[in-house]
Amino acid sequence: MSDDPQSPHFETLAIRTQSPITPEREHSVPLFLTSSFRFDDAEHARALFTEEVSGNVYSRYANPNTDEFVRKLCLLEGGEDGIATASGMSAVFTALAAKVSAGDHIVASRALFGSTHQILTRVLPKWGVTSDYADVGDPGSWERLIRPNTRLLFVETPSNPGLELIDLAWLGALARARGIPLVVDNCFATPYLQRPLALGASVVVHSATKYIDGQGRALGGAIIGARDYLSDCRFFARHTGPAMSAFNAWLLSKSLETLAVRMDRHSSNALTVARHFEGHPAVESVRYPFLPSHPQYDLARQQMSQGGGIVVLVLKGGLDAGRRFLDGVQLVSHSANLGDTRTIVTHPASTTHSKLTADERAAVAITDGLIRVSVGLEHTDDIIADLERALGA
Ligand SMILES: *Cc1c(COP(=O)(O)O)cnc(C)c1O
Repeated sequence: MSDDPQSPHFETLAIRTQSPITPEREHSVPLFLTSSFRFDDAEHARALFTEEVSGNVYSRYANPNTDEFVRKLCLLEGGEDGIATASGMSAVFTALAAKVSAGDHIVASRALFGSTHQILTRVLPKWGVTSDYADVGDPGSWERLIRPNTRLLFVETPSNPGLELIDLAWLGALARARGIPLVVDNCFATPYLQRPLALGASVVVHSATKYIDGQGRALGGAIIGARDYLSDCRFFARHTGPAMSAFNAWLLSKSLETLAVRMDRHSSNALTVARHFEGHPAVESVRYPFLPSHPQYDLARQQMSQGGGIVVLVLKGGLDAGRRFLDGVQLVSHSANLGDTRTIVTHPASTTHSKLTADERAAVAITDGLIRVSVGLEHTDDIIADLERALGA
């Protein structure tokens, strides 16, 4: 985590950040399935509601399990404060909606998760909030698009599914210079591979559903970052209710204990798969941040410690080849999730990004033959054998 020899490392914080032990002396943290908490007396209740003292009141606001999850994620991301949400999308929506009012403007990277694109183009405009997309290949487009009413910058890096990167140190410096908060969706990299707050972002949002859970079991999200930004998010979330359940917080906090070892293996497996298919006769191109052929390889090496678990294969033969491939896998799952121990293949053009027009898809490099491979933790020989079988189908 830090160069200070006295401060614990990432793995240690992920394991040893734990709720205070109860009188039962449990070793593993218990699950607090309670909607509300008792007050000591009338004065205690009054002081809790006016926030003169801190403490548990009601699980829509906070719960020992969500507190542990958030406290741990704050340490791992290097954030001052955070909140847990029911899904990644409720984290994205809260981080945006808590900060903007009618007449405000957002500048975002064009390559975004499909639902984030829907929020920016269909939901927020209903309340008079507009946005523009900047292009990765044209750094000047950010400067040109920022207006006096631009309230925040939003990016996803690496992007889902195109694996485009944004130079966070550069954009973070621009955001600081213009006094506009930068929000980064850090879902693909996780704090183990990339720490946007250290590079100038104000806030990080997560879909904990993906690598943080890591086993495809539960939905969750989080917003982590600067105290003042989080205080707006907390007010918004407290009264609109996108709270994470205690059960999911308990599960996700346990999952964070193994994030480092899982991300090491996801990354090395993905690199093995990416190298294997580069130059394969049935594959037009392979995209992976830590392959030297990635157009932003140098940037990837600079701002990420490893390449992560997602590999993109662009198949020769377009839509038909893509469909044959999906129907040809046997071991690997054809499903819509990612970041699971199980390898998952998806076809964004017909699923996650099907609501985009063909032109919008083309603008974010999602072609008909593009397959997103979320490389799991099975043995790479078995993953590669199954993908080879499907390519030959
Ligand atoms: C999945 C995903 C989300 C949405 O998360 P949910 O937990 O499914 O709501 C947001 N951003 C990215 C990059 C994602 O992959």
